[in-house]
Amino acid sequence: MQVFKFGGASVNSTERIQRVASILEGHKGQPLVVVISAMGKTTNELEKVAEAFYRGHAAEALDLFEAIKRKHLDIYNALIGDGRGQEYLVDLFTEVEWLLHDRPVREYDYYYDQIVCIGELLSTTIMHRYLDHAGIPALWVDVRDILRTDAGFRDATVDLEYAAAETKRLLTPLLEKGRTIILQGFIGATAENESTTLGREGSDYTAAIFSNLLGATSLTIWKDVEGVMNADPKLFSEAQVIPELNYTEVIEMAYYGAQVIHPKTIKPLQNKHIPMHVRCFLDPSLPGTLIHDQPVHSLPPVIVLKQHQVLLHLKSRDFSFAGAHAGALYTLLKDLHVQPNLIQNGAITIQLCVDDRGERTERLAQAASAFFDVSVERGLTLLTIRHYNTGLLETLTEGATRLLRQQTAETVQVLLRKA
Ligand code: ASP
Ligand code: MG
Repeated sequence: MQVFKFGGASVNSTERIQRVASILEGHKGQPLVVVISAMGKTTNELEKVAEAFYRGHAAEALDLFEAIKRKHLDIYNALIGDGRGQEYLVDLFTEVEWLLHDRPVREYDYYYDQIVCIGELLSTTIMHRYLDHAGIPALWVDVRDILRTDAGFRDATVDLEYAAAETKRLLTPLLEKGRTIILQGFIGATAENESTTLGREGSDYTAAIFSNLLGATSLTIWKDVEGVMNADPKLFSEAQVIPELNYTEVIEMAYYGAQVIHPKTIKPLQNKHIPMHVRCFLDPSLPGTLIHDQPVHSLPPVIVLKQHQVLLHLKSRDFSFAGAHAGALYTLLKDLHVQPNLIQNGAITIQLCVDDRGERTERLAQAASAFFDVSVERGLTLLTIRHYNTGLLETLTEGATRLLRQQTAETVQVLLRKA
């Protein structure tokens, strides 16, 4: 069996939903699990509803929600002329509206999840109703019955053992009959039936979990781009599709800041050696990118630019070697949940480059000043090139001040201050 994942961009209009349906029609009669995200920017819009509600601005929250309802109903009615089956959407709307009429008494993250989870429930309901209308048989399953999580709202952890048992009980018999199953990405529920979410962009992860639990032959992530590119095509006109990659390479790319695939996605796939395809739903005839766990040779240079970098310049106060404080520094980073993007150790200085996360950066600088004299420079850019060549490095750093450089045989990183 296979698992497909369609992101928000692939279900963002009537025309796109029809495209997805025609892709699914091509797999009629084959066992298939289809994981779908919320339409377009719905998750961001629902976040605004949750914020307004939590600030006590119920009227504003309801207004914002009204616009989300309208958008979904318009698409639904355009897909299904007589609007039959609209009550499925209306039931979901009503659940949120009830909540919005209450007063918040619990923590924000709890309400966030109860409101935001509706995005995936709506998009999958629309898709399922449309498939039914178009005569493409599929079943809609509430993924919250399978993905039980802890109560870590907004970043819930899935109970994989429970999920495995429920997958076997609920999904396997259907797949054995060659059915197509539609599931929501990104959401789960606690044992008390409170909705939870798995962290932004979590639908890829949902798809990876089901691929793992069902031992899928492959996972296909359908996107609006041709495949995984070696650079952001908005920044580099020569960006090209990489036909073949392996998991290690993808993890590296994600670490350095490429928005390829959610990093959490890789482990469940890699553990069972399940290959992943990244393909374009706008043109399914394109081959896309294949990702597996075999070595891949002759990769093109992969270019990643990370903005909003901050350089912390740490100098030991008493001429003691800076390395003596390295352990304390790593502990600080761990405690503050800050990931170092680049560290360079000198005799009495350590240079540390991290994502600038405002207040958290302040706290880090503050805490580090227990051991070091600290100076901070913001607004920097970190360029990473995997499989680099010096010519390319020269071209890409031209006109900028190179503050720091680190390289291995495979990867070069340069921290830049742009003119
Ligand atoms: N809809 C969620 C988000 O926008 C999950 C996803 O798209 O993967 O973060
Ligand atoms: Mg998305």
